[in-house]
Amino acid sequence: ELFLLNPSPATAQILTTPIKVLIVYDAPSPDQYEKLGFAYAIMLRNLIGHFNSAVDLVPIQNYSAGKIESYQATFYLGSYYNNPIPTAFLNDVNATQKTVVWFKYNLWQFAWNTAYNFNTRYGFSFVGLQGLNAPPSSSNPTPGFFDTVSYKGQSMVKYYAYDAASNTVNADPDVGVTQVIDTAKAQALVTITNSKTSAQAPYIIRSGNFWYFADMPLSYIGPRDRYLVLCDILHDIFADNQPVSHKALVRLEDVDALVNFGTMKTLSDYMFSKRIPFSIATIPHYLDPLGVYNGGVREEVPLSQAGTLKTSLNYALARGGKILMHGYTHQYDSMRNKNTGVSADDFEFWNAVANTPVAEDSTAWALGRLLAGKTEFQNNGYAPFAWETPHYQASPLSTKAVPLVFNTTYQRAVYYTSDTPNFTATVSKDFQVGQFFPYVIKQDYYGQWIVPENLGNIEYNISSIDPSSNITYTWQDICLNAQYATVVRDGFASFFFHPFWLESSLAPLVTTGFTDFKNIIQCITTLGYTWTDASTLGHP
Ligand SMILES: [Zn+2]
Ligand SMILES: [Zn+2]
Repeated sequence: ELFLLNPSPATAQILTTPIKVLIVYDAPSPDQYEKLGFAYAIMLRNLIGHFNSAVDLVPIQNYSAGKIESYQATFYLGSYYNNPIPTAFLNDVNATQKTVVWFKYNLWQFAWNTAYNFNTRYGFSFVGLQGLNAPPSSSNPTPGFFDTVSYKGQSMVKYYAYDAASNTVNADPDVGVTQVIDTAKAQALVTITNSKTSAQAPYIIRSGNFWYFADMPLSYIGPRDRYLVLCDILHDIFADNQPVSHKALVRLEDVDALVNFGTMKTLSDYMFSKRIPFSIATIPHYLDPLGVYNGGVREEVPLSQAGTLKTSLNYALARGGKILMHGYTHQYDSMRNKNTGVSADDFEFWNAVANTPVAEDSTAWALGRLLAGKTEFQNNGYAPFAWETPHYQASPLSTKAVPLVFNTTYQRAVYYTSDTPNFTATVSKDFQVGQFFPYVIKQDYYGQWIVPENLGNIEYNISSIDPSSNITYTWQDICLNAQYATVVRDGFASFFFHPFWLESSLAPLVTTGFTDFKNIIQCITTLGYTWTDASTLGHP
């Protein structure tokens, strides 16, 4: 038969067979933190969604003997101190030639168990745990810990915050300290330093098929954090041949019916002059239910009546712009959720006041809004190439509607340990975790294809005229983030920018919006990134 001519089964298999991956995680029950390990498992599963993969998540107590052998790689997330590891799992880790990656806690149950001859087999030893150098206090708020991971010339300092008033530490200071015994068997690939004492320990140690990470790189993640090391090293763990390749993306944010054509023209002209493709996160249906910006009178502007918006979009489209859909109204009902109730200010698919899903939340409810917005675009002659969730947060059920309408998203996301999360239960409470990605994710936990945004956006403190805008984030911050992102071999430099920062009405509070924007573009270009059309990175 014709379709069997010149078959190449080996190649076909490489292209189509996903890597089978098992993630086992701690879920001690009953316990307040029973589900925290599941949250980390979801995050790791998302990252592995960068690769052509099929991932199973299993609580460690449900591990059954022999399971490791049906996967190419198994990851154990030791997030809970002294959680008992089933002997079946230890036996299988000990016996297998398949890839095993162990994170943080409980390695002692394997390495110090005389049944396994760990040191001889792997050529390294587990020395013990190290946490804070001393208990913090108001007189000694930063006692120090193993806080600095060195990787590809960058120093990545782990998050740490201490509140003396409540005597609470927000940090993940514990590391498992290991030591190479036999350099023919074990290599310390990455080092972590205690910046107060200058002591050093392996951050990632590898012995053949066995990898150990000294901490939980999914806790307290950030754009200059050791999370990026995990993102990069996954390529080595899966032995893919990803060459170094760095793409850059820029997105104009929260463009709606009230957009100022002058700012869009300035930005579109600039991007076109540089031949840099760009995206426009557009809100199709403008709503100000409380009349906050309209003298107390409710205002609603569908795309069909949004003349300036359409003029701005058409101008941008002719100069390399591409449209994505950023919410239907980017606000919820007629409540302040939690700023003004006005499009672009508020959450649409999450009650940010109560920190719960909205009252009528369901996949069908969200689906209706997504379809309404997409239809509004289409009726006006536009075809958005992707979806971006307003304020990057939607309920689990709402998020599940996204892949039903858009095969591509362009965003960060929040993940939950339940479809109906309860964050206040005393036992087994749920967790929500926000995650950004330094590269394309082909499938996340909710089935979304994600084009990344990983650098953030410029913010100016204009709290004197808008109390909710009280953050400062500079072009230098974005530029530094872009520098860090280069440690990921195919790391992106993807940022977004609000065109309203160019508006003259913000003077004298903000006068450098356009200059700062151009500085970011220049910095990212100088770092060697290739400006890319985000619509070419979507689901094929
Ligand atoms: Zn927005
Ligand atoms: Zn990659």
